[in-house]
Amino acid sequence: MSQSPVTSYQSPGLSFEFFPPKTDQGRENLKNTLAELGKLNPEYFSVTYGAGGSTREGTVDTIRTILDAGFDAAPHIACIGSSKEEIRSLLEEYKAMGVKRVVALRGDLPSGMGVGQYGDFQFATELVRFIREQSGDAFRIEVAAYPEFHPQSASARDDLLHFREKVEAGADEAITQYFYNADAYIHFVESVRKMGLDIPVVPGIMPISNFQQLSRFSAACGAEIPRWLRKRMEGYGDDLEPMRKAATEIVARLGQQLLDAGAPGLHFYTMNKVEPTREICQRLGW
Ligand SMILES: Cc1cc2nc3c(=O)[nH]c(=O)nc-3n(C[C@H](O)[C@H](O)[C@H](O)COP(=O)(O)OP(=O)(O)OC[C@H]3O[C@@H](n4cnc5c(N)ncnc54)[C@H](O)[C@@H]3O)c2cc1C
Repeated sequence: MSQSPVTSYQSPGLSFEFFPPKTDQGRENLKNTLAELGKLNPEYFSVTYGAGGSTREGTVDTIRTILDAGFDAAPHIACIGSSKEEIRSLLEEYKAMGVKRVVALRGDLPSGMGVGQYGDFQFATELVRFIREQSGDAFRIEVAAYPEFHPQSASARDDLLHFREKVEAGADEAITQYFYNADAYIHFVESVRKMGLDIPVVPGIMPISNFQQLSRFSAACGAEIPRWLRKRMEGYGDDLEPMRKAATEIVARLGQQLLDAGAPGLHFYTMNKVEPTREICQRLGW
């Protein structure tokens, strides 16, 4: 396995994920979120990327904003629908900007697109291999992991074997899809260790501020919302404030369980908002 260019951080590490804002107001708001969450001293901020390069400019601009503010930034790169040439030029641009870490993903083709529109990459493993070939150890490479298994995988075993291929291609660390069941993470890490892989697997944490939205999104990405959590959240109806308070407590408790179980850090899907991510981190002692 390749050596990481980033010195290992103090455990447990903290990282925050943004998406590239589309409006001037969104860009202004993000600067405030960056400044506020930056006070928690995260290891890095990451920025999502639309498959096929649909957010290329927005992702690069947001990465620049983060670097200019003095923080480490990790662009996501979703390879599906892209050519090798496009990815090569993106890697060169990031290297020139001083980026030291990337999140290498397959991404999802928009519905209606299929074989023939994959571009030069079909799976994230091919992207990880390509980054290593092109850039050596210039980047620390994060990849995605699925404690509840990827929705398109033929079986749990298959998904684990494909995860191993991704790590053997040169990944340094994994960030998980979000989940609300700590056992899924614990079992996943045990399975990964049994396969002889020692890379850190950082749980992805999704704070809950809009339960309806989360429900829709979870159905699409294969993340399970346990019945007890759904019932509790639905029980609040339109009473948003008490719902958010309860959700923050539940997610903070999940974070604590994961850290107690040995998670090397937490990666927050912030949805570009300061709260409830900040409150959860503070409850966890950051
Ligand atoms: C932390 C995190 C960040 C994300 N950020 C983004 C983002 O910025 N932009 C975006 O578009 N999406 C993002 N996603 C979503 C991700 O792109 C989707 O979940 C996508 O469906 C899978 O991407 P992957 O990198 O896990 O793919 P892969 O690792 O390629 O796996 C995808 C599926 O293919 C299977 N597979 C892998 N290799 C093979 C093989 N050789 N043969 C057959 N099957 C195989 C796997 O088992 C799995 O079912 C993110 C997900 C996570 C967890």
